[in-house]
Amino acid sequence: MIHVNDNFIKLPSSYLFSEIARRVEQFAATNTGEPVIRMGIGDVTRPICPAAVAAMEKAIADEATERTFKGYGPEQGYLFLREKIVEHDYRARGIDIAADEIFVSDGAKSDTGNIGDILSTDATVAVTDPVYPVYVDTNVMAGRAGELADGRWSRIEYLPCRAENSFIPALPQTAPDVIYLCYPNNPTGTTLTRPQLKQWVDYARRHNSLILFDSAYEAYITEEDVPHSIYEIEGAKEVAIEFRSYSKTAGFTGIRCGYTVVPHALKGIAPDGTAVELNSLWNRRQCTKFNGASYISQRAAEALYTEEGRKQVRQTIDYYMANAKMLLDGLTGAGIECFGGINAPYIWIKTPGALTSWQFFDLLLEKCHLVGTPGVGFGPCGEGYLRLTAFSSHDNTAAAVARIKRLAF
Ligand code: PLP
Repeated sequence: MIHVNDNFIKLPSSYLFSEIARRVEQFAATNTGEPVIRMGIGDVTRPICPAAVAAMEKAIADEATERTFKGYGPEQGYLFLREKIVEHDYRARGIDIAADEIFVSDGAKSDTGNIGDILSTDATVAVTDPVYPVYVDTNVMAGRAGELADGRWSRIEYLPCRAENSFIPALPQTAPDVIYLCYPNNPTGTTLTRPQLKQWVDYARRHNSLILFDSAYEAYITEEDVPHSIYEIEGAKEVAIEFRSYSKTAGFTGIRCGYTVVPHALKGIAPDGTAVELNSLWNRRQCTKFNGASYISQRAAEALYTEEGRKQVRQTIDYYMANAKMLLDGLTGAGIECFGGINAPYIWIKTPGALTSWQFFDLLLEKCHLVGTPGVGFGPCGEGYLRLTAFSSHDNTAAAVARIKRLAF
């Protein structure tokens, strides 16, 4: 029999969402009271905006006639979309990014997971704790993580983010080769200001670290001093790759489209000591392993940059952020400490008393018929927290707040 990649054997099974599903199913089977409200999984609920739907209908019509049919597209994405990204996501913010520094993809999960292909398997890694699990698990698969003990991998540096440090991670101790940052943050919903992010860019420049900056929630930023792109920070192009996604921006979780920026100024070292552009390595990787995002999804993404598209995207985000405000105001009013929810669609709740994440999860399920995500599922420092999402309807959000208030902490 074939020998399998033993790094996969080291990975504990993905327990979090299956365990949530198991507990919810068990509860729902005997529940005769109020219906269960699900605010656990970070999927959106609002439909795709009309501008993108019209663009997809037109794109399907293109595929239906010989003259306009599109087969394989460029692996890097169609120029019509990359030019819109350059103009609206970067030039409009005073950032100079070229179209050939942008790689359109089927989303940020694939790209944040695949980026390790172009990095040394010996590279050391730092992540914030709690963290989006993809960063850790993909490094385990690649053999970079070492051994697991007490919920932590021996070759990964964990940077604690708790209420005590206002969820602002301290700079690493170990000069890691790779640092994953996600802002606005999943799961805590918190952000870094421009001066705070500058410290990371300066650190990476001093220590030759590579920052992998995931800004999947950029569209939810409301505050002026929160950067939308890491390239707003001087010198970032030499140390950072940025990941973006239309999933949460425009409800494309099912459509699938995102992009990754790899600036030409970003260099790595080959074994013989020569400098190589990460851009050319990523291009090679994508051309070998990826055949491009679909023409239809790229036309849909392009439509998001039209005047009407931008207005419609804004309306949906405002809808979710009204939910976030409802949750923040309601829970705070009920005496529950919570964070996030101002520049992100996530509310990070400190569990009342000394409840663990899972104890609070069970309490909310049994007493409020409400499903959240136990914070400990995102890393050891998530213990004692629980995440709620703002991706529900207004009615369900209001009902959830009313039910939590009944608990009277
Ligand atoms: N990055 C973060 C931090 C996320 O929370 C998510 C989705 O939950 C993703 C990336 C994945 O996005 P996509 O749907 O573009 O693959």
